[in-house]
Amino acid sequence: MYFPNKEDVVVDKKDIISNELFWSSILLAIVLLVFSIAIFIILRQKRLSEVKTDFINNMTHELKTPISTIALSSDVLRQMTDYSDSERISRYANIIHTENARLESQVERVLQLAKLENGKIELKKENLDLHEIIDKCLGTFRLIVAQKNGTLDYVQGAENTMFYGDKVHITNVIYNLLDNATKYCKEVPQIQISTSNEAKGVVLTVKDLGKGMSPIELKQIFEKFYRVPTGSVHDVKGFGLGLFYVSEIVKAHNGKIAVKSELGKGSEFTVFIPFN
Ligand code: ADP
Repeated sequence: MYFPNKEDVVVDKKDIISNELFWSSILLAIVLLVFSIAIFIILRQKRLSEVKTDFINNMTHELKTPISTIALSSDVLRQMTDYSDSERISRYANIIHTENARLESQVERVLQLAKLENGKIELKKENLDLHEIIDKCLGTFRLIVAQKNGTLDYVQGAENTMFYGDKVHITNVIYNLLDNATKYCKEVPQIQISTSNEAKGVVLTVKDLGKGMSPIELKQIFEKFYRVPTGSVHDVKGFGLGLFYVSEIVKAHNGKIAVKSELGKGSEFTVFIPFN
């Protein structure tokens, strides 16, 4: 319509086009966003299912080894005719005992995980001495490290070592960190464990000069079932649950865990637990 004395227009064609362009861009952006989210979820599910399959394979393998050792040893005992050889009997009984303990600890780990998943972790808190707990863990680890010709240094830097926590779980946290430092070494384990204080709590550091990790791997190590891929080499056993458990327990104590690592150079895990 044309009004000779009017300069304004009711609807300009340019406006319609830019309006259409605007809404179609918004629509396109929404479609792209939904599409990216769907792809992201599919990829995540795929990775999770791969990780779970790996876990089941790992687990089956780890459980089968002690079960077959127990079966073999008990068979030997069953078929024995001469019971006067007490040394032989005791050797096989010891194998059964050790393998059974291994089996028990593996089942325990999986049960702990189920509890963590259901949010059922119950902390039995009491006053604890950090150095006392470390000393207990070191009792076992000094032997393991010595057997592998490695070194294990311990620096007791903390002055105030008492804190309120769950003895069993905190012991497991330290045990897991030391276990990893021993497992993921290069030739021989070189480990340093140290303690210190922050204003509001105790700090434990476990440092190793082992294999280390890349920044991408480092981001995922606290995820359930995650293990750094090693191709077809499966020389180090594990379920990928240790660090997930460690971080959940530290969180349950209102603490913090941090890690620094460099591929080929080593790793350093730092755990902070508040006094209360
Ligand atoms: P697991 O040891 O049973 O595989 P964890 O949850 O304890 O599971 O560790 C996850 C992964 O992080 C390990 O598979 C390993 O690749 C890596 N990792 C953990 N601790 C260390 C370490 N001290 N040095 C190098 N790699 C480590």
